Amino acid sequence: MALEEGVSRRDMSCRVEIVSVGNELLIGKVANTNAQWLAQRLASLGVAVTRIIVVEDSVDDISKALEEVLDRKPSFLIVTGGLGPTFDDMTLQGVSDAVHIPLRANRQALRMIKEKVGIGSAKNEGRLGQAYEKMAVLPRGSKPIPNPVGLAPGVRLKVRGVELVCLPGVPQEMKAIFDQSVFPDILRLSGAKRFHESSLRISGIGEPEVAPLIDATMRDNPYVYVKSHPKLDREGIWIELHLSTVAETAVEGETRISRAVERIRSLVQLNGGLVGEILAKSSEDET
Ligand code: ATP
Ligand code: MG
Repeated sequence: MALEEGVSRRDMSCRVEIVSVGNELLIGKVANTNAQWLAQRLASLGVAVTRIIVVEDSVDDISKALEEVLDRKPSFLIVTGGLGPTFDDMTLQGVSDAVHIPLRANRQALRMIKEKVGIGSAKNEGRLGQAYEKMAVLPRGSKPIPNPVGLAPGVRLKVRGVELVCLPGVPQEMKAIFDQSVFPDILRLSGAKRFHESSLRISGIGEPEVAPLIDATMRDNPYVYVKSHPKLDREGIWIELHLSTVAETAVEGETRISRAVERIRSLVQLNGGLVGEILAKSSEDET
């Protein structure tokens, strides 16, 4: 799709705003690494993060901030923090107030939580029941997003044309949910034409050794996102290295990926690892 005359790429592309919730961020006790991480992820693929806002754990402040963001109509609004079971976790009440949608027990969310904690087993029956139930109370019409690391599911709600996504504050949980369930959709909407990806099978070297090699590859290939996924199968432990990029043209995408593949391949081999078959893929963007 060629850019229409008079329309800038920025106008056409996906815009994302981030709202981080937490008193601890505003007193400087915790650095807002969640927003930084999200901004890096998105920026590296050319997605414009146009605001990062921090608010305290107050229903009023959260809902006012969200109303203001919704008025600007970004493609995605990502909220981090305040999804847990404690009294100071009030993000979803803030969402509910901002969009005038009541909170309701969500059966799918409760099922996800129960599966995680093994409720139903005699050991856990009745324990902390209220806390689990609170994490499953979502604005009506929301979809819970599976949390592969922790308990509180993420929450997704399309409101006034904006994809609203709420993620837990715990960085490992936030990252896992984002990578698994949010990032692919943002990539698809990002305004670029094609999503390119490739996977390498790495063995004989552990994730801690691979991590700095990924960092180096991403530093040298700023539009390519590299993610490691540890695997275990009959042949033992190995790592899938997934490389992806969004590019305006197929040639650009393929060139970027093959450059990054060669870079990480040589780094892994230099560090004593084995690099297995490559499954090259590319896909037309659906937008
Ligand atoms: P929980 O279920 O643990 O309560 P939650 O979604 O309610 O999760 P918070 O209570 O807001 O999240 O934060 C949990 C922890 O995550 C905090 O103690 C803080 O250390 C960390 N955290 C929260 N927000 C951020 C942030 N923006 N950047 C980095 N760390 C954060
Ligand atoms: Mg909390």
